[in-house]
Amino acid sequence: MSSDVFVAPMKVFHCDHCGSLVFFENTHCVSCGHLLAFLPDLLVLGSLDPVETSDLLWRSPLPAAAGRTYRLCANYRDAQVCNWSVDADDDNPLCRSCRLTRVIPDQGVEGNQLAWYRLEVAKRRLLYTLLSLHLPIEGQDDTAAMYEVVHRRFLRYADERARGAAQEEAEPGTERRRFAYPPNLVVVDGGLPQVNAAKSVLDELGIEDVSLVGLAKRLEEVWVPGQNFPLILPRTSEGLYLLQRVRDEAHRFAITFHRQRRSKAMTTSDLDGIPGLGEVRRKALLRVFGSVKRLRAASVEEIAAVQGIGPVLADTIATRLARDSSAAVPAVNVTTGEVLD
Ligand SMILES: [Zn+2]
Ligand SMILES: [Zn+2]
Repeated sequence: MSSDVFVAPMKVFHCDHCGSLVFFENTHCVSCGHLLAFLPDLLVLGSLDPVETSDLLWRSPLPAAAGRTYRLCANYRDAQVCNWSVDADDDNPLCRSCRLTRVIPDQGVEGNQLAWYRLEVAKRRLLYTLLSLHLPIEGQDDTAAMYEVVHRRFLRYADERARGAAQEEAEPGTERRRFAYPPNLVVVDGGLPQVNAAKSVLDELGIEDVSLVGLAKRLEEVWVPGQNFPLILPRTSEGLYLLQRVRDEAHRFAITFHRQRRSKAMTTSDLDGIPGLGEVRRKALLRVFGSVKRLRAASVEEIAAVQGIGPVLADTIATRLARDSSAAVPAVNVTTGEVLD
């Protein structure tokens, strides 16, 4: 045995555009520069062509792809730690591999970006092997994450409540602090497993004055702890409508907050307002570099080499992108949307 670690032999792939050999981690063909992405449905790494009507959609020239469209995984576009695609119809911004990641390390800490990149590459290789062998990939169990978040929140409440009681004894009539008030109702996103995870927190902390329900996504079922069957509210119910709005708003907040912080100055809109840079040239840049982040990392010469750009415009682009450079990025629990810093 020459090594302690068994590494499954990795299939090699070819660029559909020029036929050159390309490798599993490649984001661009080393010969022709064409954008590459792994297509999890076909288990191949191949070239992608932009779809004319959209900045976000790409199409594989492979006959097996049958004209299907793909998006790049959000971690491909924004963080450069992934090279997988997502089916255009899939709601999840993350690819099959990235959506299994529970905690993204704080990107403000030096070395974390590289560590994250390496971890994702290793995970994708493992997933590729599992998928190639037709082994199932279990969906992420988010009950542990649910427990963690609810526990953190209610530990503060239990703590403040105890402190408030002590204070009330010392100085009667003083105002209670923010977390010393329990919410009337806790709505967790999910069905029975998620509700039970949250319920176990309340039980452990001895909290009895808080109501708890889970709102399951697909059928809009309302799960109440201790009940074997969900409550089905009429479609037109004001109560159900309120619960849905609460849930959707929480999603919206978590996702947009995460995105704003993570990819500030990394979106294509940052190319807006650069004189001389219209739709066609923007598209040419994205075709070559794949993302604004990569474009930012490119030299003026590299940018100038893109068809239709030239040295003057390249200089303007580089200057603009350098000026808009984004700040540090917080760690985020991608299961619950909780911002960890
Ligand atoms: Zn190529
Ligand atoms: Zn990914």
